Amino acid sequence: MLVAVHDFTEDSEALARAVFAYALDRVRNDPPLDHPRPAAELAAAVGQTVTTAGLGWQAALRCWSEVLAPACLSVDFPRFLSFVPAAPTEASVLFDLVVGASSLYAGSWLEGGGAVFAENQALRWIADLAGLPEEAGGVFVSGGTNGNLSALVAARHAAATRRAGRRPAGGWAVVAADTVHSSVRAAARVMDVDVIVAPTDDRRRLTGAGLAPVLAEAGERVFAVVASAGTTNLGIIDDLASVASVCSHHDAWLHVDGAYGGAALASPRTRPLFAGIEAADSFVVDPHKWLFAPFDCCALLYREPALARAAHTQTAGYLDVLTSGEDWNASDYAIHLSRRARGLPLWFSLATHGTDAYRIAVEATLDVAGAAARLIEAADHVELAHEPWLSVVVFRRRGWDAAQHRAWSDRVLADGLALVVPTVHDGETLLRFCFVNPKTSVDDVALILESLR
Ligand SMILES: *Cc1c(COP(=O)(O)O)cnc(C)c1O
Repeated sequence: MLVAVHDFTEDSEALARAVFAYALDRVRNDPPLDHPRPAAELAAAVGQTVTTAGLGWQAALRCWSEVLAPACLSVDFPRFLSFVPAAPTEASVLFDLVVGASSLYAGSWLEGGGAVFAENQALRWIADLAGLPEEAGGVFVSGGTNGNLSALVAARHAAATRRAGRRPAGGWAVVAADTVHSSVRAAARVMDVDVIVAPTDDRRRLTGAGLAPVLAEAGERVFAVVASAGTTNLGIIDDLASVASVCSHHDAWLHVDGAYGGAALASPRTRPLFAGIEAADSFVVDPHKWLFAPFDCCALLYREPALARAAHTQTAGYLDVLTSGEDWNASDYAIHLSRRARGLPLWFSLATHGTDAYRIAVEATLDVAGAAARLIEAADHVELAHEPWLSVVVFRRRGWDAAQHRAWSDRVLADGLALVVPTVHDGETLLRFCFVNPKTSVDDVALILESLR
């Protein structure tokens, strides 16, 4: 029966046990890296899985575990070092099963108050790391992309409200360095606003000195400045203090994108790099990247949540019961209404382990990144391209062109050794390690560097 209400059968008990066993095996026993496969191969292997009569759970689960799961890369594999990997804690992953089992609706306080209360304590920890004021608050959204878009929509709404809805001549614009994440340009396209590129300094940082003339020239067109707290490609942290003071002088909203790097606020070793972040009007960090939470989870925080509420609250007769009171409704802080309590796995893991464990885990990955940089410097076949800012290490294989870097990357993936794909920085093809997994060891790095000889 599709929905078993009273008839909890032996079969559904067996299904529950099989799913628990699968989940436990997946989190306890490190999986192989696995391999992508073309759709035609998958079709040949499993055929049509959605049928009128159904396959039965045993066949469906076997199809997943034997064919489809191995066609997904294990992002938490210790030598998966590309893009930004993930390394969720066991506590967070297992609690995700509870979130799924509980049919939680975490958009409103009426329906999901207990879940939102817990999420808000996790958000408060992040707000405190950034030094945001007591009134700061926000919501967990799917990722940095939604977080950046939602923050910019709130910023433009605030600017438009201040100007009584008058659109500036030339149209609205946001200012950022060319190193800003692609999602900021995507948000600007969605919002039909321009991105004005501000120059960077000799370390490729956006600074107040670079920003000031751009803001002076663009005038009232600019509703927000986006600064990066850890660029994806290199981990560059813009000079947030001077950027913040120029923003405040020009009355521009400062949004800080820390989707990857914001996690390093947790370590006193790296915290000074973020000086000035406490002046941000909005801030994002993705716990699914470097704060050991499962996908998908972005913490979006506002200095003045009321400004976000004014931009995002949906109103309709069927919602009046939710929005007419003083309740903290999580859906009011981003572009969404229904929402999964996607901050709960992070909350459960934080509540279980305490925040010290997070600092220690972040520092462990910083240590491995530092050791990787030293190994690269010591070897003669590879060369460090930049001293790492955080846990991203970029380097080149001496004497290789883009095609050779690519061929090596394909080969080590096919061998199941590692995922290390080339990236391009300022026109040059480089190799890039991004460390977020405390299970990645210096030996793992040495093994990969050996394969580059
Ligand atoms: C990953 C990333 C994003 C986008 O986040 P998603 O969670 O992938 O949507 C935005 N900004 C930066 C700096 C990132 O590293």
